[in-house]
Amino acid sequence: MLFTFFLVPLFLFFFGAAVGSFLNVIIYRSETGESWAKGRSHCESCKTLIAWYDNIPLLSFFILQGQCRKCKTPLSISHPVVEGLTGALFVWWYFAGFLFFKLTQQPFIVLQPLFWLVVGIILLMILVIDLKQMVIPDTAVALLFVVVILYRVWLVAFHVMKPEDLLLSLSSMAGAGLVFLALFLVTRGRGIGFGDVKLALPLGLLLGWPQVLVWIFSSFCLGGLVGAGLLALKKVKLKTAVPFGPFLVAGTLIALIWGDQLFGWYVTLIK
Ligand SMILES: [Zn+2]
Repeated sequence: MLFTFFLVPLFLFFFGAAVGSFLNVIIYRSETGESWAKGRSHCESCKTLIAWYDNIPLLSFFILQGQCRKCKTPLSISHPVVEGLTGALFVWWYFAGFLFFKLTQQPFIVLQPLFWLVVGIILLMILVIDLKQMVIPDTAVALLFVVVILYRVWLVAFHVMKPEDLLLSLSSMAGAGLVFLALFLVTRGRGIGFGDVKLALPLGLLLGWPQVLVWIFSSFCLGGLVGAGLLALKKVKLKTAVPFGPFLVAGTLIALIWGDQLFGWYVTLIK
């Protein structure tokens, strides 16, 4: 009990935070155009190399009280936020896995958890990068697409998924792409960006039918609610562009967890 419900999640949280620390490097270097693999981390202001004991995920930020040890320049809050979020993703993945990972035949006993963890990490990256840079990177969208289509085809090849269900997922992908393309054209790119249109393809394929409907609906509800809230708090003006990617990611989470129930509830409403 102690092992399953405390030690393993604790280890996974800090392991996830370490992965998050690495994701931060990728995010930061994609902003500055540095090579992803290049050299050790250094202070963004005084360029001093960061010692290993000042580079411990989450802990270092709090020990250093959020500033560089040498020049005292404040460190970006995105370090602890991304590390904490990735740690939380790993713990959530672990506990949700008890309920969701039902494929007990080889190779899916390994592939299924691995697939959802990779999808979670890519979606987290998209969320953070879109918030920070107002851009959804094509690399992440392409990677997500490849991972999802390979996994779906694999499921069909092993008779876990019916071919007609894959066709339904492909139709969901096309439908989602068309809906977002239409919205992009109607709003002339001011409501949603073209990056959102591209992201709609792998997400439509991932969610399939009818979850794709729940996803679109909840993304726009969330976007509308948060947008109205920001307007009311005078944090944004009516013309301010707000990145939509985070709502697409949050909507995906809702559709994955409650998609069936929400769709069932909606169907009983209109019957
Ligand atoms: Zn410094």
